[in-house]
Amino acid sequence: MRYIEPHAHMVSRTTDDYEAMITAGCAAVCEPAFWAGFDRSGVQGFYDYFCQLTDYEPKRAAKYALPHFCWLCINPKESEDMVLADEVLSIIPYFLDRPTVLGIGEIGLNKNTRNELKVLERHIDLAAKHDQLILVHTPHLEDKLKGTKLIVDALKADSRIKPERVIIDHVEEHTVDLVLDAGFWAGITLYPESKVNAARAVDIIEHADVHRIWMNSACDWGHSVPLAVPRAAAELRKRGHSAEAIDGLIFGNPQRFLGQSPRFKTA
Ligand SMILES: [Zn+2]
Repeated sequence: MRYIEPHAHMVSRTTDDYEAMITAGCAAVCEPAFWAGFDRSGVQGFYDYFCQLTDYEPKRAAKYALPHFCWLCINPKESEDMVLADEVLSIIPYFLDRPTVLGIGEIGLNKNTRNELKVLERHIDLAAKHDQLILVHTPHLEDKLKGTKLIVDALKADSRIKPERVIIDHVEEHTVDLVLDAGFWAGITLYPESKVNAARAVDIIEHADVHRIWMNSACDWGHSVPLAVPRAAAELRKRGHSAEAIDGLIFGNPQRFLGQSPRFKTA
């Protein structure tokens, strides 16, 4: 089996996780910028984080012969502070030329506030100006449907944005068609408990158009499973999906989306 992990917060993970991922067939890992579990005290914290994502972490992954790529932004949780958000947005262009940066992400909404929406629009503008791919985080639980609609509207409002160059992540049963019907890619994040588990993800896949869907673990500093994608592949196999169909979903699809960046490559 081979697969791509398109959304994992590896700075929070151990070398054992890298070892387990390559043993399971991981051929590339992509790391969106996100919340650290605490609010950073200033723009310097983001500068250091972007250096870590573009320099140190690819070197750490290289020790396991695993290509590592990243996405840059200020995450929605910290974008309530508009002054900080503008400062962070101003330093992102300095990092966009680094060889493993794929685009802007994970941007989006957390509580669907007015400030979050303004910062989302500024990120969309930044991506359009620099012709970057976009990775979007959608809110959890009761905010998800409304937040996903707001995000789709914000992306559609900017005529420079090509939907096939945007992936909207953390979709669930009630948001997947909204995202796919608008022409975007959809990401299904696999959680060990409470949210989308492997069985639910496979249910979604069996009822949706799978050509623009990827699955990811989004593993981070919280309770999460770096091997969630190969475990979902095992669930697909148990349900009778062919090896070819599984390969298309966990390797072919992310490769097609991420391959829109000439920088992306697999091991
Ligand atoms: Zn994430």
